[in-house]
Amino acid sequence: MILPVVDDVDTAPFWTAARAGRLVVQRCTACSRWRFPPAVRCSGCRSDEFEWTAVSGAATVWSFVIAHGPTLPGYAEETPFPVAVVELAEGSHLRMVGNVLPAADARLGSLTAEDIAIGDPVRVAFREIGPNVVMPVWIPDAGRDADAALPTRKNEGDDAIV
Ligand SMILES: [Zn+2]
Repeated sequence: MILPVVDDVDTAPFWTAARAGRLVVQRCTACSRWRFPPAVRCSGCRSDEFEWTAVSGAATVWSFVIAHGPTLPGYAEETPFPVAVVELAEGSHLRMVGNVLPAADARLGSLTAEDIAIGDPVRVAFREIGPNVVMPVWIPDAGRDADAALPTRKNEGDDAIV
């Protein structure tokens, strides 16, 4: 299995937080824009200042695919499995890619296309995928109203809100 580099100077705080069960994202201290994936400069105001800021872990499925073979050898036995783009509750431009699972330790292929829909509420969980490597994954959160968790969605296109 290919593992992410967790001690890279630009991304280490993300992986350190994930090992502690926290999801953090860079946030520009000049204009408050969220930055993900981590970047040297803000795409909104070009500032290089930021803070690693905890987010709620609430999200909705923005899109997803079912990954079939051929895949990398480390994943071959778990195909097919869903891979989603989720939109975090903190902002309509703040999206992450990850697996959708019924539980953090479930088999990658536990859910099928029939189990997932665009707009479904999900919440973050943390899955140990290697020595000292913990990956955020997404768990269906049927008890939460996705629209209530995404107030910015109602104002899509309103730059003053996002
Ligand atoms: Zn900025």
